[in-house]
Amino acid sequence: MRAKRCLITAGPTREALDPVRFLSNRSSGRMGYALAAEALRAGCRVTLVSGPVAIAPPRGARLVRVETAEQMRRATLREARRAELVVMAAAVADYRPASPAKRKLKKRTARLSLRLERTPDILAALGRRKPRSQVLVGFAAETHDLLANARAKLARKNLDYIVANPVGRPGSGFESSHNRATLLARDGSTRAFPRLRKEALARRLVRLLLDGRAH
Ligand code: C5P
Repeated sequence: MRAKRCLITAGPTREALDPVRFLSNRSSGRMGYALAAEALRAGCRVTLVSGPVAIAPPRGARLVRVETAEQMRRATLREARRAELVVMAAAVADYRPASPAKRKLKKRTARLSLRLERTPDILAALGRRKPRSQVLVGFAAETHDLLANARAKLARKNLDYIVANPVGRPGSGFESSHNRATLLARDGSTRAFPRLRKEALARRLVRLLLDGRAH
C-alpha cells in the first residue's frame, strides 16, 4: 500500500515588532511534534511545518521551518496540495504589528501603543481549497464554551474534524506535557479522551484519523 502523505503544522509563530522583538504565544510545539511522530510510526510520509520551538523534530519527517504566520501560510498551502491528511496544530498568531519598525524601538515615552492587524487564517484558506480526498483537521483551544466554539469553527472553516482543547487551567494545554481533548467530526459525532500525555493522545488521534474511523 502507498504511504499516505500527511502535513502537520506545529508550534507558535513570531510576529516582528522591530528587528529584535516579536509577539508570540506559549505553544511548545509538543502536540504537533507528537502527531508527526505517530504519523511516521503509522507508515506515513510526513511534512512538518514548524514555528520556532525548543524540541527536536521526529526522525524521518521533512521539516519546513518558518517564523511568521505569513511564512507558515505560504509553506502550508504549498505543501497541502498533495497531502491526504492535514492537521493544523500550530498556534498561529491571530494578530501582528501593522507596521513593524525598521529600527529598534527606543524607550522614549511612558506609554507605547501598538497597532495590530489580523493575520491570514491559514486553516480557513485550507478549508476553501480542500480536495475531495483530503481529511482536514483543526484545533480549537478555548477557555470557555469549548464544544460550542469548536463546533462553530469546524463548520466555518470547512473541516472534517476538530480537536477541542480546554486551555487556561493547569495540567493540560499550552506548555504542558499533557492534554485534554474531545474530537468532533463533521457529522456531529464526538469522542472525548481522558487527560493523557500528548504522545498518548497523538497516538489515539492519528489512528482514528488515518483509519477514517474517528467517529
Ligand atoms: O479561530 P482559531 O484561531 O481559534 O482556530 C484555531 C485553528 O485555526 C487551529 O487549528 C489553528 O492552527 C488555525 N489557525 C490558522 N491561522 C490563523 C489562526 C488559527 O490556521 N491565523
